[in-house]
Amino acid sequence: MSKAQQLDYHDYEELFQDDLLVRRKEKKAKPKRPSEQLVYGVVVRARGHHYDVETTAESEVDGVARLRVCEVRGRLLLERGRDTLVAVGDRVWVAPIGEKNGLIERIEERRSVLSRQHPGESRPAEDVILANPDQALVVFAAANPEPHLRMLDRFLVIAEANELPVMICVNKIELTGEEAARRQFGLYERIGYPVLYASAKQRIGIDALRDFLTDRITVVTGPSGVGKSSLINAVHPDLRLREGDLRDFMNKGRHTTRAAQLFRLPFGRNSYVADTPGIRELGLYDIDPANLPFYFREMTPYLHDCRYPGCTHDHEPECAVRAAVERGEIAQERYESYLRLLRGDE
Ligand code: GDP
Ligand code: ZN
Repeated sequence: MSKAQQLDYHDYEELFQDDLLVRRKEKKAKPKRPSEQLVYGVVVRARGHHYDVETTAESEVDGVARLRVCEVRGRLLLERGRDTLVAVGDRVWVAPIGEKNGLIERIEERRSVLSRQHPGESRPAEDVILANPDQALVVFAAANPEPHLRMLDRFLVIAEANELPVMICVNKIELTGEEAARRQFGLYERIGYPVLYASAKQRIGIDALRDFLTDRITVVTGPSGVGKSSLINAVHPDLRLREGDLRDFMNKGRHTTRAAQLFRLPFGRNSYVADTPGIRELGLYDIDPANLPFYFREMTPYLHDCRYPGCTHDHEPECAVRAAVERGEIAQERYESYLRLLRGDE
């Protein structure tokens, strides 16, 4: 691995400073080839073979961050093989071409991915929907629309399968009062998911939401009409997300085939919200049933205590999970969500 590849973004700033100094000192030295003057950025959108890359101000020669429409260097296409070559969220090094274009020369190793699940393959193909997501925010309304918790459970399974930390945000709490909202969602707090009670309308929970979003790439999802855009706009009004910019869970929005996209939040370092495809496109229904119990985090402590090794926790005798449900240690509603997903019910 070359030196530049090992550097993270913070080191790069330093390197770049040195580089500038060197070049100022050696004015008569041969100008560097463009491929050595790489700029650094994040892929925010993919359109066919073109990628929109938001570069950092620090890495641009004139110190101005910009959007560059980039293609991928041919050599990279050969090296990467069958993994998704470039995905939205990838951190890349670009050889600038003029003011507005560039060639993607290097792709930083991904720290995490949101991908489609392909069961039954010995080496699962990486079908990356989003590279480097740090966390997910799943938004529901306390009322209007009434929360549909089976849908929340489905999303939590996707997040667990992708090892993505989740925060649940309950919006519109001024409609029911916080106490009632806590009664509805307390179950999720008890099994270890953080829950933020908020109101975009009354600006409740907005500071906490802003903190949560700062310096991270956050997948934002939830049913339509719960106030996803209103919340993000409350955090930062200038972003002016429009209806449909953040798709709903079941993907009933207008842009059903659109790929993931990042929206930069103008605070912190690299704060982005990601719009991603809905549950169906994420392939929830392809999750291997044998793995499903591990994605219900409150079930995991019991999984090794069932009588039969291949227990599906459905009908088998002496099932530790069902016993835990009967004792009230696992919520009945969550267990029912599990059974529905196990049976492939819609
Ligand atoms: P999205 O589809 O999830 O992005 O939802 P929107 O942000 O478009 O909001 C849907 C509707 O809910 C709009 O009419 C908003 O004005 C309304 N809304 C958003 N936040 C709140 C809130 O905190 N309280 C109430 N009462 N209404 C809200
Ligand atoms: Zn069992």
